[in-house]
Amino acid sequence: TIHHSPFTSSPITLIGAGLVGSLLAVFLAKRGFRVEVYERRPDMRTAPAGAGRSINMAMSTRGIHALKQVGLDEEIMAMAIPLAGRTIHLVEGDMSFQPYGQKEEEVIYSVSRAELNKALITAAEKYEGVRFHFNERCTGVALRTGVVYVRDERTDHTRSIPLQQLIGTDGSASAVRTALLSAGRFDISQQYLDHGYKELTIPPGPGGTFMLASNTLHIWPRGLYMLIALPNPDGSFTCTLFFPHEGEYSFSSLSTPEKVLDFFSHQFSDAVPLIPNLAEAFFANPTGNLVTVKCFPWHYQNSILLMGDAAHAIVPFFGQGMNCGFEDCTLLDECIEQYGPDWERIFEVFGKLRKENVDAIADMALTNYIEMRDRVTDPAFLLQAQAGLLLEQRYPDLFIPKYSMVSFHRLPYAEALRRADIQESILQQLCASITSVEEIDWPSADRLIKERLIKD
Ligand code: FAD
Repeated sequence: TIHHSPFTSSPITLIGAGLVGSLLAVFLAKRGFRVEVYERRPDMRTAPAGAGRSINMAMSTRGIHALKQVGLDEEIMAMAIPLAGRTIHLVEGDMSFQPYGQKEEEVIYSVSRAELNKALITAAEKYEGVRFHFNERCTGVALRTGVVYVRDERTDHTRSIPLQQLIGTDGSASAVRTALLSAGRFDISQQYLDHGYKELTIPPGPGGTFMLASNTLHIWPRGLYMLIALPNPDGSFTCTLFFPHEGEYSFSSLSTPEKVLDFFSHQFSDAVPLIPNLAEAFFANPTGNLVTVKCFPWHYQNSILLMGDAAHAIVPFFGQGMNCGFEDCTLLDECIEQYGPDWERIFEVFGKLRKENVDAIADMALTNYIEMRDRVTDPAFLLQAQAGLLLEQRYPDLFIPKYSMVSFHRLPYAEALRRADIQESILQQLCASITSVEEIDWPSADRLIKERLIKD
């Protein structure tokens, strides 16, 4: 038999079949490329689940748009739970709801990381030219000779594979990024937060019912730290405690089951009865670190590119890491469309267009931690948030609240940050001497918006 292959170019090698690598495989396959993906872990569709990073995550417009481009949005949305806003749980037990947006479609979605990743791998594998190699860890890349080293995790056997184009989608501790250090003139910084995170579970109630309202993200903001909870389709919630590593109230100070229970029952009293074996789970579950990684350039000549967390790991407080990585795929696809098959140009333009935007979301994500854990209970913040929604109603093309620009629109992150800073100062000015939105001085609002937020 004659094997007919539609592929004329050599395969593109991807390192890492996480969220970004597996979606990127679909994008590249759709353009007719052969793709070989090396993933250090076993195939998650058949292997028992290990303790991964974050069980569920928030997906929003940028991520959904990328899925739509490759025709996967409907399949993925079918397994997602819409979240219309935040439910704030105060220490005394009172709750209040703050909507994320104001149009019906302005919601974010809670999705299971594992189910999403599995669906993307399966979708990529449907293309004839895509192959996944599981249990294969990249241990290094020889830049000048164009070889990638891959070790079989079961046999410890290492082989070298020649590469034409290699894309490192191997996450925040990327081995491909490490290899780029030897290229010279490669900038890199990593900044760890003094805070880490721990996941805990609220199981479903009788008959798979939710024990808290299901279409909202729950936050227990406590100033220096916070607990959050996102729903899962089986009726459970995954809670995440974001908490200092050291200090008076910290992972290191909560050293015994008694201290954990005492702390939780004072700070998160309404959550405690919902989390069985709280102290046991607290010590059994790992404590994760939170890091921002910035580096540049992301490419080496025409052969290597970094994407997703490998290029730009950010802290999770804007729910954007994956969305940003998916948006990377959208942009790379556009660059291929425009400059293919000149890979050096594709990689260079991709980096140039993307860098300031990922730096902007990295910074917004850091700031949002303070907003979520502290400002959401501050009356001045709430007044400004309400005023922001009213300004958006009145000037829908000019004034869009920051959360909405990031989560419900696709304008570049750097532009969102620039406009958000101007909007913040307008809101501060308008709200400085009022206590309710009825008192907004609309002629001043008109003037400030026209002067300072000119439509591009
Ligand atoms: P990863 O998902 O880390 O995938 C990398 C893959 O590469 C993995 O499969 C890994 O096994 C493999 N790999 C690593 N090294 C090698 C190697 N040497 N050889 C071969 N394979 C290798 N983002 C959101 O958009 N919304 C959220 O709500 C959200 N919540 C989060 C909550 C937490 C607590 C954390 C930590 C992150 C959160 N994120 C969120 C960010 C999101 O998880 C990441 O941005 C996203 O996973 C990045 O995808 P990636 O494919 O680049 O990297």
